[in-house]
Amino acid sequence: MNDKTGGEKTVKKRLLLLLICMLFLLSGYTAEAAKNEEKTTYLFAMDTTMTIRVFGGDDALMQSLQKRVNEIENQVSVTREYSDIYRLNHEGNVAAGPDTETILNRALNICEETEGALDVSIYPVVREWGFTTGEYRVPSPEKLEELLASVDYKKVEPSEDGYHIPDGMAVDLGSVTKGYTGDVLAGMIRSAGVKSAIMDLGGNIHTVGKKQNGAFWRVAFRSPEGTGLVVVLEVADEAVITSGGYERFFEDEDGNVWWHIIDPKTGYPAKNGVISMTIVGKEGIRCDALSTALFVMGPEKAAEFWRTHGDFEMIMITEEGELFITPSLNKRFTPDAMMPYHVTVLS
Ligand code: AMP
Ligand code: MG
Repeated sequence: MNDKTGGEKTVKKRLLLLLICMLFLLSGYTAEAAKNEEKTTYLFAMDTTMTIRVFGGDDALMQSLQKRVNEIENQVSVTREYSDIYRLNHEGNVAAGPDTETILNRALNICEETEGALDVSIYPVVREWGFTTGEYRVPSPEKLEELLASVDYKKVEPSEDGYHIPDGMAVDLGSVTKGYTGDVLAGMIRSAGVKSAIMDLGGNIHTVGKKQNGAFWRVAFRSPEGTGLVVVLEVADEAVITSGGYERFFEDEDGNVWWHIIDPKTGYPAKNGVISMTIVGKEGIRCDALSTALFVMGPEKAAEFWRTHGDFEMIMITEEGELFITPSLNKRFTPDAMMPYHVTVLS
């Protein structure tokens, strides 16, 4: 009897152990699967489409990322009547929220650093060309001169409880906000303990870590002329941000092409020799600001800016068919066999 009972007990114990082992394996498997699971959110915000791919996050994280994008847009939109920037532009004063303050301060620093190639007060000129509405027109030189009189980022001043701008001035943070948003989202993803994510915020690419298999993210570029693939870049924990004339432009009756990146010195679309400017770096807002500013500067000044600052990498394509690349990016760069550009490594 005793033996039998003892035998039954042993069998039960073994079964229990087996069950525990199975549960353990199963829970391990489920945890592993959840860790690897891809969550993707598509959204339309900041006048563009965005895709956020997170590997190993949960639904709550995805929702909070989307909510955060909307929160930033609500603060800095130039068209939403309750935004900080709308009120600054219409009332001349605003007690700005934390996102507006951070973006504006950082952008103003880079306006200074680039000697006004980036100018957050260029908005009235951009609007006159019709780039804000799609009703394109070539303004008269007199009109541009009149509008340029109130373009000067130095006159955006901290006031007692926020910011102040003079009459006639209007500020737009469109050249840097997506880069900032990428930084904020990447920070939230990292804080949630996620090691791998990639975001496309209207063409701006932001990466968190590497791919789950440990390989670099491979970011592909199309040629500015739309003729095909140009290069593949390997990146990790970086932003890759491009400003291109081809992104938004129109052709006038005489066949002149005018694009949305304006040279604040002239009021005309910047035609200083660059057709595409890509900046790669750790901080998205800086990459975004510099992609616009170095596009405006033109090839020589942009290369010189890189030499003196050096805290970013770049790929610059000129209207003469040259592709300039910084040396360490060159090591992570694979040109397509059909790439039409002549490559020069900057030094
Ligand atoms: P991005 O696509 O980041 O190069 O930003 C271009 C947008 O920034 C344009 O659509 C304009 O609204 C605005 N913009 C154009 N030229 C400038 C400039 N020189 N400085 C600051 N913002 C600009
Ligand atoms: Mg930009």
